[in-house]
Amino acid sequence: MTIFTKIINGEIPCNKVLENDDFLAFHDINPKAPIHILIIPKIEVENFQQVTPETMAGLTAFTQEVATLLGLDKNGYRLITNNGSDGGQEVMHLHFHLLGGAKLNWSHLSDSDSKKFI
Ligand code: 5GP
Repeated sequence: MTIFTKIINGEIPCNKVLENDDFLAFHDINPKAPIHILIIPKIEVENFQQVTPETMAGLTAFTQEVATLLGLDKNGYRLITNNGSDGGQEVMHLHFHLLGGAKLNWSHLSDSDSKKFI
């Protein structure tokens, strides 16, 4: 069981943004942008590689609702999922990082020499 399952079960508190029967959105404990939300399915799915298109359909609509609720639909946002160890995934329960509230830096990725990644 991951820490996110404990959050879903209410065993660990979270700063909730939105919830329905299938999904939960809450503030990241260590924000990397003015607004940093984690969006998760309530069913246990390890990561993006494991998720079904059906779950992703609901997660997409839920994520759009969260973005609108926080006003991020107006100026934009970044949506990231880290998949597995090379992707930097630390919590093995599928989650999307919704980042916004400022113009986010991208140059550190787009200007990089791809050879430096390996
Ligand atoms: P990952 O590296 O797996 O993509 O991201 C995991 C995220 O979960 C990190 O951004 C981390 O700050 C966040 N996180 C880890 N534990 C907790 C917690 O107990 N509560 C909340 N709200 N966020 C957490």
